[in-house]
Amino acid sequence: MSIADYQKQRKVILLRHTPSPEETIALGAKLCYSKSEIEDLRGKVEAKDQSAFIEKLMNMGHESVLEHVTFTFGIEGVSRVLLAQITRHRIGASFSVQSQRYVSYKDGFGYIIPPAIQKLGLDYVKKFQSQMENILTWYDEWQQLLGDAGEKSNEDARFILPNACETRMLLTMNVRELRHFFQLRMCSRAQWEIRDLATEMHALCMTVAPTLFADAGPACLRGKCPEGEKSCGKGADIRKAREDMIEALKHPETTHVEDMRKLLKGELFFVNGASHIASTDAHISGDASYDGYIVYDEAGNSWFESDFAGYEPPEEG
Ligand SMILES: Cc1cc2nc3c(=O)[nH]c(=O)nc-3n(C[C@H](O)[C@H](O)[C@H](O)COP(=O)(O)OP(=O)(O)OC[C@H]3O[C@@H](n4cnc5c(N)ncnc54)[C@H](O)[C@@H]3O)c2cc1C
Repeated sequence: MSIADYQKQRKVILLRHTPSPEETIALGAKLCYSKSEIEDLRGKVEAKDQSAFIEKLMNMGHESVLEHVTFTFGIEGVSRVLLAQITRHRIGASFSVQSQRYVSYKDGFGYIIPPAIQKLGLDYVKKFQSQMENILTWYDEWQQLLGDAGEKSNEDARFILPNACETRMLLTMNVRELRHFFQLRMCSRAQWEIRDLATEMHALCMTVAPTLFADAGPACLRGKCPEGEKSCGKGADIRKAREDMIEALKHPETTHVEDMRKLLKGELFFVNGASHIASTDAHISGDASYDGYIVYDEAGNSWFESDFAGYEPPEEG
């Protein structure tokens, strides 16, 4: 297999989460203010929708109760650049990361090509791929010079590997840290790869516990942008997109069609009552037999404009 085949696409799976996240958090909070025994409180919490109570809690800033609930993600097809950034999040975040010491890359390594390089065109993508080929040759050379001794030679041969190198990890974060992570990393000031990942993780969380994550994301969702001169100035668009997402989640039976052509990788979209996460941006089909937009979801399904019931292409011009 040529190393060109090792170009990787990001994949994010929500593997596990604390059952009944919203009830668990409400139980933690109500316990603080109640004389009742825990079983009695649990009955009361389970008997009533807790959304309004949780919104109140978060407005009050009573956030420690959010630590009772965790979400665990499987993440593949991301770079070591991303790894360096995401592991800066220390509190309420746990990582298990594929090791470059125990795993040898003698048969090749996966790598991420930044979209900006892909946009330069095929010649530049090939140039990047050929540079990866060179690095693999150097890695092999060091493996040989270090005695091709498995773990022993892997641990030093890896020093020649690039930041583009693919990694995969299991990541568990509690809800308090997730909300903090989304605030920093979904902001347009964050670097593209971690921003895309955070956006996709947020979309997955929204399908499970919308009350906990409805206002999670860049600071401009909740108030003034703190970035001053560096602000992207898109606060109004970001707030509108979030309102649309919340509405769509409340009425999944109504196909959410408004912006099919603007659908970005990692965004939620709805077709016939079911939610999907876009694994590609919506783009013009490369297939001459289909003259329209296409997007792929997490499960690898392709979605066409005709799948979006009632979709009417915007008028040109
Ligand atoms: C746009 C952007 C650019 C960045 N650029 C750089 C850069 O150039 N160089 C660089 O080194 N980093 C950079 N970072 C990383 C940044 O400095 C943080 O390390 C990272 O975002 C993790 O966030 P956090 O510190 O809030 O950590 P988390 O682990 O997510 O901590 C959560 C919160 O817990 C509290 N906390 C955590 N640890 C402590 C502690 N030891 N003492 C007291 N309170 C604590 C803080 O309130 C903290 O906000 C950048 C981040 C962003 C979003």
